[in-house]
Amino acid sequence: MTPILETRGLVKRFGGVAAIDGVDFRLEPGELRCLIGPNGAGKSTFFKMLTAQYAPTAGQILLDGDDITDEEPSEISRRGVGIKNQVPDVLDGLSVRENIWIAARGRHDTAGADHAVSEILERLNLGPLADRVVGKLSHGHRQWVEFGMVLAINPRLALLDEPTAGMTAEETRRTAELIREMNRSMAIVVVEHDMQFVRTIAHRVTVFDQGRILAEDTMDRIQVHPEVLRIYLGT
Ligand code: ADP
Ligand code: MG
Repeated sequence: MTPILETRGLVKRFGGVAAIDGVDFRLEPGELRCLIGPNGAGKSTFFKMLTAQYAPTAGQILLDGDDITDEEPSEISRRGVGIKNQVPDVLDGLSVRENIWIAARGRHDTAGADHAVSEILERLNLGPLADRVVGKLSHGHRQWVEFGMVLAINPRLALLDEPTAGMTAEETRRTAELIREMNRSMAIVVVEHDMQFVRTIAHRVTVFDQGRILAEDTMDRIQVHPEVLRIYLGT
């Protein structure tokens, strides 16, 4: 089976530092993968390379077997890759509806965007907050607005960077449900620190450390992997 996403020898240097240092990654269609690893391991940089926010220093990125290494962000979005960055990309001064509408407008005409936004507001239970200014919302609600912006492009692959940051336990539980529901129609990669959350959603887990893939396996095996325990527990 052709992977939906593949990287070959991916490298990103910032000055002398290799934030991504030779990553060969494969994701099968329909997979739900979690990326874990210490702060500074390169997880967010990896996502930004996949969506052309950062140009690779070396290596290749393939989507459905097509080389997209040199594509523009707009083309990658058009091909159905949606991203929720770690630092929110929402426009704080605009309403929930307006933020999602702007994202939807990239893929739909005006009437289509209106229709898409109504559906998404309902799917995310954001209807009651639709006309509220995003800057005044809780962390959890802001994260869901960003999920809405990802859904607005009708993605085949969603990249979610720390989606539960700032959420209450109840919001985190609902987010796990939402991600599982999204996974019925798209492949998903989630960067996440909450191991309980990872355990409840992931098919497989990839561990990054110092810009490289340290391990890749089921959560059961990752939790007893000696190298992974060493970087997390310092043993
Ligand atoms: P993670 O998301 O795993 O915490 P990052 O991808 O944010 O890690 O960072 C990986 C490394 O790359 C860190 O050393 C970080 O300081 C560095 N880095 C990330 N973005 C930049 C940038 N725009 N300029 C310079 N260094 C960066
Ligand atoms: Mg990060």
